[in-house]
Amino acid sequence: MKIDGKTNVCGLIGNPVEHTLSPMIHNTLAERMGHHLVYVPFPVEEGKVPQAVAGAHALNILGLNVTVPYKSEVIESLQDIDTLARDIGAVNTLVRTDGGYKGYNTDMEGLYRAMLSEGVAIEGEQIILLGAGGAARAVAYLCATKGADKVYLLNRTFDKAQTVAAEVNGRTGRKVIIPMCTKDYTKLPGGKYLAIQGTSVGLAPNVNDAVIEDRAFYEMLHTGFDLIYSPWETKFMRLTKEHGGQAYNGLKMLLYQGIIAYELWNDVQVSKEDAQAVYEKLKGQFMQ
Ligand code: NAP
Repeated sequence: MKIDGKTNVCGLIGNPVEHTLSPMIHNTLAERMGHHLVYVPFPVEEGKVPQAVAGAHALNILGLNVTVPYKSEVIESLQDIDTLARDIGAVNTLVRTDGGYKGYNTDMEGLYRAMLSEGVAIEGEQIILLGAGGAARAVAYLCATKGADKVYLLNRTFDKAQTVAAEVNGRTGRKVIIPMCTKDYTKLPGGKYLAIQGTSVGLAPNVNDAVIEDRAFYEMLHTGFDLIYSPWETKFMRLTKEHGGQAYNGLKMLLYQGIIAYELWNDVQVSKEDAQAVYEKLKGQFMQ
């Protein structure tokens, strides 16, 4: 890649950022689409988000992604915020404007595009959402706005499930999210569910863990969608498949949240061919 005086810089702020796959997404897109752009991770220490955002703007940085643990904290440092990101309460993408950055949430739309690409529907579905953290909040919002019939939001800490349910039900005007404690999964009404795994349980290196281990639970699922992509196949996915369900990991969500950010920064549309090429490259990281 040729770097010269016209090269645009984008990047990622978070802590830690050492193992991020985002540079692969954006630098591959820039190369394939012929854009003068480089993407670099920037580790930001606790308490330094305002300086990092102001400094990035002063350095003419075109756009930033934001990852754990700053997706909510960064909101205070923005010039403007997209309505959806405000409703979700989390920002993962900053787009440069004259006076500062405008914040967006591309995680939710990224998951939606990932599910569409796998043929997994939300509309009319009975959904079990595991987790009530930052990612699960965006998923709850997605399910409520895309017409899920019911979403049972199961979390270890019941208070957090209640808070997310009240917020999402309130903002979308639909009483679709039903909070529950994870250990009460045996009280779920009978039927076949789409389960979305949004906790951090099962994430490498803890590859032998699943948030619910009971095999009877997996008999209730027709599909399991894990937001985790490392390991490539989580225990949650393995158990889902062993009971006859379809299972997907979170790599396509990562891919599409990145693609949407790239589209916002460069005012372009990424083609299906370019998206597929980036996906194959990302996948290659797990197949070695
Ligand atoms: P977070 O805000 O820290 O939330 C963590 C969630 O996991 C909470 O619901 C927490 O429950 C639950 N949890 C943690 N340890 C648990 C345990 N031992 N038993 C039961 N529940 C436990 O994290 P996040 O940002 O939402 O991320 C969650 C997962 O999604 C991560 O694995 C992350 O890698 C993945 N993710 C993927 C993408 C993607 O692009 N594919 C994007 C974002 C996130 P409590 O509330 O009870 O603590």
